[in-house]
Amino acid sequence: MKNLSCIALLITFILSSCASQPPKIVKEIVRDTVIINRTTDRYESARVAKLDKFKISTSLYPAKGQDERIRYLVLHYTALDNEKSIQVLTQQEVSSHYLVPNDFTDSIYVLVDETKRSWHAGASYWKNVNNINFSSIGIEIVNLGYSTTNPVSGNPDMATAQRTFYDFPEFQIKKVAELSKDIIDRYKIDPVNVLAHSDIAPQRKHDPGPKFPWKELYTKYQIGAWYEDSQKNIYLGQFPYLEKDSTSFILSYQQDLEKYGYEIQKTGIWDTQTQKVITAFQYHFRPERYDGIMDAETWAILKALILKYRNN
Ligand SMILES: [Zn+2]
Repeated sequence: MKNLSCIALLITFILSSCASQPPKIVKEIVRDTVIINRTTDRYESARVAKLDKFKISTSLYPAKGQDERIRYLVLHYTALDNEKSIQVLTQQEVSSHYLVPNDFTDSIYVLVDETKRSWHAGASYWKNVNNINFSSIGIEIVNLGYSTTNPVSGNPDMATAQRTFYDFPEFQIKKVAELSKDIIDRYKIDPVNVLAHSDIAPQRKHDPGPKFPWKELYTKYQIGAWYEDSQKNIYLGQFPYLEKDSTSFILSYQQDLEKYGYEIQKTGIWDTQTQKVITAFQYHFRPERYDGIMDAETWAILKALILKYRNN
């Protein structure tokens, strides 16, 4: 009886799918062997050995002990227009899994299959892990990046606010949000592991920059990490104005930046590398001013984030 109803269901399915489109292959959902996911109707990669002499059966013995290889989602801007972005990301060494153009078409381009490694992060670090390419999905967003006006002469390393960044149009952010949400849900990516390229390579990267609306992604779509205002306000009242330039205070916030995930040398000095890490932090969490200075608000936000996400 059970078999009969299964067959009836199958026939109904085949008939209904014959009506307009060619029939799809539908199988039971066993991760990594499935062709089309029955519930979501989504394509999933099929990567399993195919042997001439032996049958491969993975569906009978799914192991309990397994998890996802993907643990991070990293967002970038291309600093190029649509055409050049596609050209560079497909023809040169650098690549990403997805490319979100800035035109009105619905298309988001898949440049690298999710089961493969794309080369988007370069030398990178987050919370004791190097080489984030191994375990991340990279999304490149078409955006021209920034223009430099009135550069500080003789001090090219200073991470000052001399850069003018370009806005992201709302329709593009919606695309990025829906795509990110899908990836985060499928791989169950930890909010603190939804990152800017500048978070994992703060000494050399600025993307996707301070115009990227991380707060909107968090509040509207529950994407990534964000602090609680109430906690930030409590810390605001505790900022040690008198000791803000002392070695011990600088050491303490260098430790906090490291605790949250950033790679930083704990020098006890507000040096160029520290300034760049603070700037990367501000791009993400306090984009109104990104001068690399650990002011009261930046510090309170850092403390509130640690309390919420790294309090162990
Ligand atoms: Zn990047």
